Amino acid sequence: MPLTPFNIPPAHHLIGGHWTPSAQTIPVVDPSTGAGLTIIGRGTSGDVDRAVAAAQSALTGEWGGMSALERGRILTRIGQAVLGHVDALAHLESYDVGKPLTQARADAVALARYLEFYGGAADKITGETIPYLNGYTVYTLREPHGVTGHIVPWNYPMQVIGRSVGAALAMGNACVLKPAEDACLTALAFAQIATDAGLPAGALNVVTGLGHEAGAALAAHPGIAHMSFTGSVRTGELIQSAAAKNVIPVTLELGGKSPQLVFDDADLDRALPFLVNAGIQNAGQTCSASSRILVQRGVYDTVLRRMAQAYRDLKVGPALDDLNVGPLISARQKDIVTGFMRQGADLDIVAQGKIVTDAMGHYVAPTLFANVPPDHPLAQDEIFGPVQVLIPFEDETDAVRIANGTDYGLVASIWTADGGRQMRLAKALKSGQVFINNYGAGGGVELPFGGVGKSGHGREKGFEALYGFSTLKTVAAWHG
Ligand code: NAD
Repeated sequence: MPLTPFNIPPAHHLIGGHWTPSAQTIPVVDPSTGAGLTIIGRGTSGDVDRAVAAAQSALTGEWGGMSALERGRILTRIGQAVLGHVDALAHLESYDVGKPLTQARADAVALARYLEFYGGAADKITGETIPYLNGYTVYTLREPHGVTGHIVPWNYPMQVIGRSVGAALAMGNACVLKPAEDACLTALAFAQIATDAGLPAGALNVVTGLGHEAGAALAAHPGIAHMSFTGSVRTGELIQSAAAKNVIPVTLELGGKSPQLVFDDADLDRALPFLVNAGIQNAGQTCSASSRILVQRGVYDTVLRRMAQAYRDLKVGPALDDLNVGPLISARQKDIVTGFMRQGADLDIVAQGKIVTDAMGHYVAPTLFANVPPDHPLAQDEIFGPVQVLIPFEDETDAVRIANGTDYGLVASIWTADGGRQMRLAKALKSGQVFINNYGAGGGVELPFGGVGKSGHGREKGFEALYGFSTLKTVAAWHG
């Protein structure tokens, strides 16, 4: 039973510092083999009520009374404790979500880094003094919202927990976390690590369960003062509607159709690994996956040939074999991805990776489509699988038109040696992040992240997240 290293009883929620049994359970299946692993709790609205109440008590208790310095020290200690458990967390994640071990390790290290970053930042967020009328002193205070809700997806559980819960705790909020039903094990392990590292009871509560049950109850709860959600557009709309009824702010990170723009003068040796990896990392189940590769005519055939070769070398297999690509999270996700691939029956498949296992997991061969019209569903919709499309373009204007021609705007990259073009396109692209001659920039814990359009709104990561997880109070004192 993979939960054993953390001594967590199966099918329990963490509420107010106690592991609390769940009346109903959900089976957990290994996506690499289809084998049953363990069970998790199927939380109810009652469990959510209790978790919100525990978080409210934490705010009026030990956690709420702590200075920013003390909060920061605890978060830093949690980060260091996570570093001590990287291997165990990585194995847990590989079993639970099918992520190849090296990628799961990178997520565990990133989780630690988020806690260290936000631990260090906790006492560095300041207000300002504002010149005003004679006889007044005016200043601003950054204060926590109160109880924050965090609904997390299954694709990068550790990273999303690090960036949202880490920043919320740094600002002094108390959190209720609802991990995805397909990916709860590292969330539960993290909660245990945080408790062991000294996080006061109730500062972080975890209720596992289904989206339309525990998730919906959390999103609609009147005790929640801010919601952070990462996942699909469809669920994001529901979360925002629920938040509107309670008039609370929401941060939505809803994925994308992120393009990389490769110009004739690009350094292809540098670009190639980024072009491919940004599409197949985590089997393409990445909100910032680069699923569209836009290539200028002069290098189109070369890029096609070199990416095709890279695809033919890709190996797909069980997470613990640590190959290039693991299984998809679920049979449902495999159906979604293969459904998209069938919509590409009229397109050229230039190359595919190889499935090198007989295991009964949810495997899909990474697939590269060429000459895809920009308005084709494969070039417009978030596929969330190891599928990339190559789209040729003529010039800068054409490239920007195609790049901006979807509903999304999360990440984009520009591959060119021309400095003027780099600056022009960085402004012209509708995107929350733009990378120049790189993609994804080493994890980007420090870099504000979020989207425009259907990719969502609000920013997580970096210092910017701390503003989102706090509210501003203006104090005007008249003293004559
Ligand atoms: P989802 O949006 O349904 O699930 C994400 C989280 O929301 C999970 O924790 C889930 O339990 C919760 N949830 C679901 N319904 C809810 C509700 N009514 N109220 C509150 N919470 C709810 O995503 P999915 O169904 O697991 O995946 C479907 C598609 O979403 C994927 O194919 C992919 O395109 C996209 N997706 C994107 C991201 C991302 O990082 N942007 C992550 C996961 C999935």
